[in-house]
Amino acid sequence: MSDSSDELSPEPELQIRNPATEEVVATVPAATVADVDAAVVRAATAQARWAALAPADRARLLRRFADTVDAHTEELAQLEVREAGHLLGNARWEAGNARDLLLYAAGGAERLLGRQIPVPGGWDVTFQEPLGVVGVIAPWNFPMPIAAWGSFPALAAGNAVVLKPAETTPLTALRLAELALTAGLPEHLFQVLPGHGHIAGRALVDHPGVAKIVFTGSTRTGREVMERCARLVKPVTLELGGKSPNIVFADADIEAAVDPFSFLDNSGQDCCARTRILVQEPVYDQVHELLADALAAVVVGDPADPKTGMGPLISARQRDRVRSFVPADAPALRGTAPEGPGYWFPPTVLTGERPDSAAAREEIFGPVAVLLPFTDEADAIRLANDTPYGLAGSLWTRDLGRALRVSRAVRAGNLSVNSHSSVRYWTPFGGFKQSGLGRELGPDALTAFTETKNVFISTEGPAQ
Ligand code: NDP
Repeated sequence: MSDSSDELSPEPELQIRNPATEEVVATVPAATVADVDAAVVRAATAQARWAALAPADRARLLRRFADTVDAHTEELAQLEVREAGHLLGNARWEAGNARDLLLYAAGGAERLLGRQIPVPGGWDVTFQEPLGVVGVIAPWNFPMPIAAWGSFPALAAGNAVVLKPAETTPLTALRLAELALTAGLPEHLFQVLPGHGHIAGRALVDHPGVAKIVFTGSTRTGREVMERCARLVKPVTLELGGKSPNIVFADADIEAAVDPFSFLDNSGQDCCARTRILVQEPVYDQVHELLADALAAVVVGDPADPKTGMGPLISARQRDRVRSFVPADAPALRGTAPEGPGYWFPPTVLTGERPDSAAAREEIFGPVAVLLPFTDEADAIRLANDTPYGLAGSLWTRDLGRALRVSRAVRAGNLSVNSHSSVRYWTPFGGFKQSGLGRELGPDALTAFTETKNVFISTEGPAQ
């Protein structure tokens, strides 16, 4: 996040630390405003050539890129473990997700269909034209997938991409850009510029040569990005914060419903984490007991060890932020975490919070949830919607009618019934309310990187 002190003393180099050991694993130059300028100019030239290629040729190159990512899955996963502290199994899934999205988007290049609309006196057809140069600003919590979600559908739709990864986690994005070149994608079509948000990120947002911004991160920075884009009437997709509910009705499969990894996955640094556990009163005590046992059983430690269930937080700053929501004397269920180097925090469920407390309302972005009781269906919906966010949520019940009613009533973009899953690259993803604007992924992902052009062709001949 930016503040004036950062602006006075920007670091010319980014030191990338392993969050599990605090060791510096790489040093990367930080892009300046001039670097962003030059990248956008190069990208515009590359984009014009790319858009002129036949869709099948663009698709073929993107499939080759997917094959190259596939051949480097293990390397990319190891890099993600080192720079972001992700569990190795999760990091392998993330590299696979980038590969699969490339394949899915490649098919879209050949299916970017227009329409033919009946009109008198001629033909009317629409074209989905690429935007030009797209700027993608990615966060540190899922560096590889989120870089891919913003960038690959944009490429498939005929655009060039300039990507600014988070300053703590640029390594997988830099490697993806190298792999794109290895696969034969044109030079400068997909450029990655590590740098500070308030310098390189802001320069991308303000650049008149950047046709659209895709931003994922905090609601606070997203609001600033949107305001700056408004000055240039620049379209923007925002994927922002969340405070998602896990609604457990008394008739549900309670053991499945209270899976602690619904909020502990990625150490809780997940915009879809189900951090408000809403439980119907008759099963509250049972849920409390199950959660106490489950948290005690979570193994927190070395992300590369297959027995580990949860790794570190991304940084000391993030650990301090998380800690600020959990006073030592707060009533809570707590697991354990390692001592010593690394940014550790134990799995925690706060049990004495009111629905209007800071811990129950703000995005903590760590392994911390709140447990809140509710009385009936109407009360559950009221509590679920009592938040400025609306990204995701789960609801658990064996009553099909209730599942449908509650799914429709909860104001959030991604809901799952009797499941905690949120994201598939072939289904749409995005938030209601202050969780964002626009949708990524899914069948319409490419369209979000195009303008619709309408062309009327007269059949009456030129006027005599
Ligand atoms: P930010 O939203 O500030 O950062 C996200 C991205 O935006 C980073 O690449 C960042 O660069 C960049 N950025 C920062 N300031 C600007 C700016 N003025 N203009 C353009 N780009 C900018 O998140 P933080 O890393 O500060 O995390 C703070 C909190 O945000 C977390 O605790 C969490 O609650 C939330 N968050 C939510 C995410 C989500 O997926 N919904 C993801 C990440 C964070 P740089 O790395 O240099 O700061």
